[in-house]
Amino acid sequence: KLSKRLETVAKYIPRNARFADIGSDHAYLPCYMVKRNDVHFAIAGEVVEGPYQSAVKQVKQEGLTSKISVRKGNGLEVIEPNEVDCVTIAGMGGTLIATILENGKNKLKDSVQRLILQPNVSASSIREWLLKNAWTLVAEEILEEDGKIYEVLVAEKGDSYSLYESNKVRTLLFGPFLMKEKNAAFVKKWTLEKKNWQRILTQLDSAPESEENTQKRKELQEKIRLVDEVMNNED
Ligand code: SAM
Repeated sequence: KLSKRLETVAKYIPRNARFADIGSDHAYLPCYMVKRNDVHFAIAGEVVEGPYQSAVKQVKQEGLTSKISVRKGNGLEVIEPNEVDCVTIAGMGGTLIATILENGKNKLKDSVQRLILQPNVSASSIREWLLKNAWTLVAEEILEEDGKIYEVLVAEKGDSYSLYESNKVRTLLFGPFLMKEKNAAFVKKWTLEKKNWQRILTQLDSAPESEENTQKRKELQEKIRLVDEVMNNED
């Protein structure tokens, strides 16, 4: 059985899409999609030998070698031009996901129509990359599983300036769809973040004065203000 986190990613993979799962580890996601007959071709990419071997083993065990191509390589370099319509990258930090997208930009130019990205932290780095590179969010989810909170971002080609019109900094941080929905996982995540920032602020209060210190406090205060704003905003 797939985790709720990966099931949420799977939900957004179009039927019959050819997709590449980058950083696939055990290749659970490609195996799940192919076994359900939702897709007929997938690539499982891995840069590290151990997880790569796990993927090879899993795909063999499930008898799916004719439909899932397991490849070793860094990020999107495992994809040939026009080979896939959809790319999934799950279970990493948002900054790493944004770096993988940036380094593999040329592979996203042609056939790739949808990106499904699941950052464990720093989703804002991904939103920034998408905005800069003319990909637009079409859906976002936030969910809790085993006490951890995960975000899933779904993007397609297109300008997304209109999504960020009202307040760019705030929308990049919280997510245009998530901050409208404000579900329980969202409220929990940002309440915890705020508490953490307040704790750091208190620590900085007793640290020696410095320009860096003052700057940090300002940034934290601003982020706390943004959380309050989003939590109390009714629109
Ligand atoms: N995607 C699976 C999931 O969500 O359950 C596995 C997540 S696992 C925590 C992250 C995987 O990404 C690791 O196996 C790691 O080797 C791989 N990885 C990290 N950087 C990568 C890169 N630049 N290219 C390909 N794989 C990468």
